Amino acid sequence: MANATPHGIPATLIPGDGIGPEIVDVAVRVFDALGSPFAWETQQAGLNALEKSGDLLPAETLDSIRRTGLALKGPLTTPVGGGFRSVNVRLREAFQLYANVRPARTIIPGRYDKIDLVLVRENLEGLYVGHEHYVPIGGDPHAVAMATGINTRAGSRRIARFAFDYAVRNQRRKVTIVHKANVLKALTGMFLETAKEVGLDYADRLEYDDRIVDACAMQLVLNPWQFDVIVSTNLFGDILSDQIAGLVGGLGMAPGANIGEDAAIFEAVHGSAPDIAGKGLANPSALLLAGALMLDHVGKPAQAQKLRDAIDAVLATDSGRTADLGGGASTSKFGDLLIERLRG
Ligand code: NAD
Repeated sequence: MANATPHGIPATLIPGDGIGPEIVDVAVRVFDALGSPFAWETQQAGLNALEKSGDLLPAETLDSIRRTGLALKGPLTTPVGGGFRSVNVRLREAFQLYANVRPARTIIPGRYDKIDLVLVRENLEGLYVGHEHYVPIGGDPHAVAMATGINTRAGSRRIARFAFDYAVRNQRRKVTIVHKANVLKALTGMFLETAKEVGLDYADRLEYDDRIVDACAMQLVLNPWQFDVIVSTNLFGDILSDQIAGLVGGLGMAPGANIGEDAAIFEAVHGSAPDIAGKGLANPSALLLAGALMLDHVGKPAQAQKLRDAIDAVLATDSGRTADLGGGASTSKFGDLLIERLRG
């Protein structure tokens, strides 16, 4: 993180694609009303950057994040085909954002009430390293598809330590290590073994256990309250975090933080939602909750809590809910109500 200037803490702001600009606009207005410490540097990435500058991830955007060490990012569309690598994966790699933190908490009771879970996902290794290829046989160029997963001892130790430290710092009670060590004995067996070793250092402060990923998925449906902090590898973490978002009302409510040693990028878990872009239907809550994580990250927990409380209060009213939550509020109306609440 860069040092604060008289204008505030420099932070890169990426409006992104699809619903991104609409929800980022609400976030900027809400942060102003909150008196947030951030001095925004607006930069482009994604499809709109490709159209303007020919690059999904322009050098100026990377330079800005390198300078500020902090970004709030709208969702980015990665064009399908054409050999484009996911911008999100490129950002994670460029800044070595090894930890993906996705808290999920019930705000509007639905199928489940009182959910309060945090998923910590390894963000750089595993099957997402992108080592894939086809083997042609006969006339079929794609007769065999192969992918290599890579987990390292150092990467597993780093993410496990992050999860246990996070649990201690946030007064959590338990860490569950999720793996598939019964089948992927090397790839996730080593992850399990390493995470358990790390757990020993925290045994006086935290409970910890482990689960096979498929059993964990089922138990998250049957009895999610048994979990507290979950730490897992890249692919399993990706899948489980969307499942967990489903327990608290869907993607519109799920924030995420991508954290490395030198930079941190905060975003909503959802994508650019092209089906509702420009219609005023997008729920900005996930991005705003990501903003609350960013406030926590820069040591402003009181402001973060004030923002969360205001979001909870607006969502508790029928008139404050966007369409995905069964309400009639537009994206900007939700922002207006939140600002009224913060100023009131
Ligand atoms: P998506 O998350 O954009 O949309 C899935 C469904 O959820 C859609 O019906 C959408 O309308 C709805 N939805 C998503 N966010 C919402 C919100 N805030 N309020 C209300 N409804 C919301 O997933 P997708 O359609 O699979 O992906 C669209 C694009 O987004 C793709 O190009 C994908 O690569 C990209 N993507 C980007 C990110 C990111 O930048 N972090 C993450 C996921 C997907």
